[in-house]
Amino acid sequence: MIRIDSVTKRYPDGTVAVDRLSLEIPDRSITVFVGPSGCGKTTTLRMINRMVEPSAGTILLDGVDIQKQPVNTLRRSMGYVIQNAGLFQHRTIVDNIATVPRLLGWSKQRARTRAVELMERMGLDASLAKRYPYQLSGGQQQRVGVARALAADPPVLLMDEPFSAVDPVVRKGLQDELLRIQAELGKTIVFVTHDIDEAIKLGTMVAVMRTGGRLAQYAPPAELLTEPADSFVEDFLGTDRGIRRLSFFPSADLELLTSPIVAVDADAGKIAARSADVPHLLVTDLEGKPLGWGEPKDLTAGEIVPERLLSHGRPFVHGKDSLRAALDCAVLSPTGWAVGVDGTGRVVGVVSQQAIGEAIRLAHAHGRAEDDARAAG
Ligand code: ADP
Repeated sequence: MIRIDSVTKRYPDGTVAVDRLSLEIPDRSITVFVGPSGCGKTTTLRMINRMVEPSAGTILLDGVDIQKQPVNTLRRSMGYVIQNAGLFQHRTIVDNIATVPRLLGWSKQRARTRAVELMERMGLDASLAKRYPYQLSGGQQQRVGVARALAADPPVLLMDEPFSAVDPVVRKGLQDELLRIQAELGKTIVFVTHDIDEAIKLGTMVAVMRTGGRLAQYAPPAELLTEPADSFVEDFLGTDRGIRRLSFFPSADLELLTSPIVAVDADAGKIAARSADVPHLLVTDLEGKPLGWGEPKDLTAGEIVPERLLSHGRPFVHGKDSLRAALDCAVLSPTGWAVGVDGTGRVVGVVSQQAIGEAIRLAHAHGRAEDDARAAG
């Protein structure tokens, strides 16, 4: 565990970048520092690996004051990733990743083997190993940056706006990758971003900082969304807090109906099964993949033209996706019903907006009860 205890950083010109900051960063989780530009996030991160020394206060790593540790030993226990990856331009990708192991005295062969293994883990094709950084896309370079930071298997990973310079699609991929790596490797990750959505997606704990280097709130993301500490945090979180919080509620508890589903042989145009007296029936092919919604009177007529069915929209994966995804699906559906599928895209059932609304109400009530229980100790 990293414990930041009443830490202040005053730069020589008098700027107070961080002001009496205290918090505990739990092991094997992602702690995100978020806030507007200039609020002291980078300074805080750099104090953890002693690239910046605090003016007052202490930082403890597993109970030991980091001031009392040789700085090289400390930094070796902490991978560091920055925006634009910060790769050595004159070294190949594999040599970039092998940098720290080589510094630690690993043989060239062992360091390279490790580098290739990490490339694979980061989803980088082995054919990129001999290239130079400028021959890679921004997203690929960022993956190399993460691989390089992981090379000597440090328990802690410090990441300073690592994904800020890539486009939104690549960025989402990198975020998903980071969550996967975290789940696999159980690193203690300290992550700096100015993007609140990124903080909410990645953070186990989120520290919202305000200008002047002060901590505004430190909480799990779902709690931030429900109970922002003050109007600064509320404004920083932005709109749709309630909707965004639904991302933390699983769709697994939704009760799906199977009666309004009919499977048809699309080629033959005949109904293979039919049921239920609801306004619309969801038509699937014989494999169970959704084709669209139709009115029962049209369906019983015999010929089914998939193109004439109403769109089923983008289904949600029951159990994997959140209530937010299910609600979105229902809101966009022309029938007001959301389609739930399994991991292979086969329909497992449908659910109405009303039923999702009821599940949301129950989830909120349950969340409140849990909060009350926590508050009561
Ligand atoms: P953030 O990462 O949240 O954008 P920083 O930690 O980079 O914030 O900076 C916090 C404050 O400290 C800012 O006002 C910045 O201008 C100031 N600052 C950062 N580095 C230095 C420095 N080396 N000397 C003087 N002021 C600095």
